[in-house]
Amino acid sequence: MKQYDAIVIGSGQAGGPLAKKLALAGKKTALIEKRWVGGTCVNDGCTPTKTMVASAKMAYMAANAASLGVNIKKFSVDMPQIRKRKDEMVHQFRNGSQKGLESTRNLDLIFGDATFTADKTILVKLNSGREKEFTADLFFINTGAKTVTPDIEGLADIDYLTSTTILDLETVPEHLLIIGGNYIGLEFGQMFMRFGSKVTILERSDRIVSREDEDISEELTQILKTEGINIYTKATTTGFKKKISGKISALVSVDGKEEKIKCTHVLVAVGRSPQTATLGLDKTGVEIDEHGAIRTNYKLETSAPGVYALGDVKGGPAFTHISYNDYTIVYRNLMEKADLSIKDRLVPYCMFTDPQLGRIGLSETEAKKRGINYKVAKIPNTWVARAIETGDTRGFMKAIVDADTKQILGAAILGAEGGEIMSILQMAMAGGITYEEIRYFVFAHPLFAESLNNLFMALED
Ligand SMILES: Cc1cc2nc3c(=O)[nH]c(=O)nc-3n(C[C@H](O)[C@H](O)[C@H](O)COP(=O)(O)OP(=O)(O)OC[C@H]3O[C@@H](n4cnc5c(N)ncnc54)[C@H](O)[C@@H]3O)c2cc1C
Repeated sequence: MKQYDAIVIGSGQAGGPLAKKLALAGKKTALIEKRWVGGTCVNDGCTPTKTMVASAKMAYMAANAASLGVNIKKFSVDMPQIRKRKDEMVHQFRNGSQKGLESTRNLDLIFGDATFTADKTILVKLNSGREKEFTADLFFINTGAKTVTPDIEGLADIDYLTSTTILDLETVPEHLLIIGGNYIGLEFGQMFMRFGSKVTILERSDRIVSREDEDISEELTQILKTEGINIYTKATTTGFKKKISGKISALVSVDGKEEKIKCTHVLVAVGRSPQTATLGLDKTGVEIDEHGAIRTNYKLETSAPGVYALGDVKGGPAFTHISYNDYTIVYRNLMEKADLSIKDRLVPYCMFTDPQLGRIGLSETEAKKRGINYKVAKIPNTWVARAIETGDTRGFMKAIVDADTKQILGAAILGAEGGEIMSILQMAMAGGITYEEIRYFVFAHPLFAESLNNLFMALED
């Protein structure tokens, strides 16, 4: 059995950089990865999707160029080329990270599937076919999450797509049916609509992105419908049948009424669950919750001393930047004797529909629920000079502020570059800059950011 100072399981957004830093700090470290270096983000999450979203945006701009006085007579979408560009980007990111890890002294990158067999001991089924046991004083679990497959009759008999397999399509689906109207479903829906598919989205709740405020769901629904996407809410898919023609028939209950929808492809986008089932966590005393997520405290320590969990596997907000931040917290606490915690950490995120939805802090619904004395600042993007000039006035800017302290509590920026504008407000929140200060702040004209003056002017004092 080989002994290490530290073993990291999973080379996601926390695992890779953590293993490298521990090794460079002098700890003999092993990083175990069953698939590819970089995890979901690099291989089948952020990198490939945002690369393809860029192609979809280009198609949209070409289709709408005439509105800005530029006539593009004819254009076509080259799916194999889009896939090739995406693959090149993924390989470049993945290979760059792998080389960096392989050339790190004190670090062994081991490709295989790890399972705990006893306290602080793992068995790795190496990708080469052999098995090896390892032990260490410290363990870091960064095994991420995987697609949830719903229990729908007939689903197993159709060749359904997941957020991973859809990335490798060589042709544009004629009619793509998407189960799930959340971030992943909406990003893919708009992307394939722009590539030329007919797209239908089925959402079980009474509105898409149901965790956001109602006005966001409404505006987004309007934007996506205007572009031609069919959206059904209160829609439960009850079965699938494959036709002799090769087409698929979906049986859907929409607000209690049975409907049959014919399509050519089905994308399942109903969520992701932590990858803990095969980790043998009971063998090392690591507790999980009812969703299979590893329970941790605010310092990301699990119930087993010396075993940490980072990223999606611990449940909660599932984003690349959160996993990466988990690594910096764990590393600095352990190696630099810091006293950092994830409690009260700001969790920004951006949905990469076009326009983007940039979100930070409290929503209006949450502020109301907490009984806070809040005010809402909101302006449509038709008031934003930059939006008017660039020809994209879809969406709005919205911020929730504390009526007493004048601090910004949260923001939702639905609009062009919404993620970047949200980040400005995030900095203000972190630095304690009040909305009154931003109201009179000098921003360069005519940036989107300049409209933050107007956003807070809209608040009655
Ligand atoms: C389609 C899609 C788009 C997304 N877009 C965004 C976005 O725009 N922005 C954003 O912030 N987030 C996005 N996300 C979410 C983001 O990808 C994840 O939150 C992030 O990758 C989580 O990182 P992680 O470090 O927790 O785990 P992961 O990156 O998932 O890494 C876990 C690694 O552990 C390995 N592993 C698992 N079990 C074992 C085992 N037993 N032994 C050895 N290795 C194992 C896996 O193979 C994997 O490589 C997206 C996700 C998807 C699916």
